Amino acid sequence: MNTKEIINSYPNYIMNTYGRQSIVLSHGKGTRAFDLDGNEYLDLFAGIAVNNLGHSHPNIVNAIKDQAEKMIHCSNVYYTPQQLELAELLAKISPNDEVFYQNSGAEANEGAIKLARKFTGKGEIISANNSFHGRTIATITATGQPKYSKDYKPLPEGFIHVPFGDLKAIKDAINDNTAAVLLEAIQGEGGVNIPPENYLKEVENICKEKDVLFILDEVQTGFGRCGKMFASEIFNLNPDITTVAKGIAGGFPMGAILANHEIAKAFIPGDHGSTFGGSPLACATAIASINTILDENLLENSKNLGEYFKNKLLELKEQYDVIVDVRGYGLMIGLELSIEGASIVDEARKNGFLINCTADKVLRFVPPLIITKIEIDRFIIGLNKIFSKF
Ligand SMILES: *Cc1c(COP(=O)(O)O)cnc(C)c1O
Repeated sequence: MNTKEIINSYPNYIMNTYGRQSIVLSHGKGTRAFDLDGNEYLDLFAGIAVNNLGHSHPNIVNAIKDQAEKMIHCSNVYYTPQQLELAELLAKISPNDEVFYQNSGAEANEGAIKLARKFTGKGEIISANNSFHGRTIATITATGQPKYSKDYKPLPEGFIHVPFGDLKAIKDAINDNTAAVLLEAIQGEGGVNIPPENYLKEVENICKEKDVLFILDEVQTGFGRCGKMFASEIFNLNPDITTVAKGIAGGFPMGAILANHEIAKAFIPGDHGSTFGGSPLACATAIASINTILDENLLENSKNLGEYFKNKLLELKEQYDVIVDVRGYGLMIGLELSIEGASIVDEARKNGFLINCTADKVLRFVPPLIITKIEIDRFIIGLNKIFSKF
């Protein structure tokens, strides 16, 4: 089938839940993706901040091949060396001690909410307006954007929302029934929203003071995205629970709840589970991905090229009134426009660049951490050309 036939057949067989870009992707290599018609794209979207090593990195491909030949899945009723090796690695690189393996970000947050309720014996979860925590019933309820939950009532009880960045609102919201505060380090889907200075640290301190758990959702910010392995390093945080997914395994689906010993021990056999979670294949792939990020100095690249990219975008902002703000950490960058961004995304694609727009007006750049200066320069020239036409 050709591009047109595939696009036209989709609605007959696939639920229409996405506003899709009108290309059919066929393969990728590094920072490049290719469509069925042979067009090449510089991929600054990376599968929504997932392909941190780019497309089909040889270390990821080999890890999947090698492990697939040994064993793909065996269930959590058995021990495997891969689970332990990854857990030790996660304990070393993250602020937390123990892991529960899941398959997605929503599942990780869902499990973190269960763990917080089990540990504290309390029900209420405080999260932020404009947050995004996933698409399950509990996580759309935690998500502070009513558009995601309005059609799915009744929603579970015990979720409270406060403005992101408002410390007093959190203080006021905490009460005797509060189990946890759940926040993204940097709001991704909500528009690459950076917290005010010291906000997250002060939230953490309030949580400690009031015996409330602090859950940091690093599903999007983790694994080098923001220039450090985790955003908690940027803000000097020690969350009780960290949730991760997107970039953990180089594109292989995986999520995880990371928690400190004292809290993790609240789960006992039977309390929580996952058929697929932590398969040898997922764990081997995550190990390869994390080790590659460390071995190839991709944290440095994310930090340095993120700075370079942001400065180039700030130069564009000087030229075009339509650019309202440029913000981000590492290679998680938002460019806020005074207009809706969908037409810019279309133009970019026609010029060979895959980008994304979130929160209607924020162009979001989350390229693979292996992106080079030359590629960023090429994109900036392209973007300049697009803005000059608007
Ligand atoms: C993407 C995302 C999720 C949901 O992850 P899924 O794997 O799509 O379930 C949760 N939290 C944040 C911050 C995210 O960016």
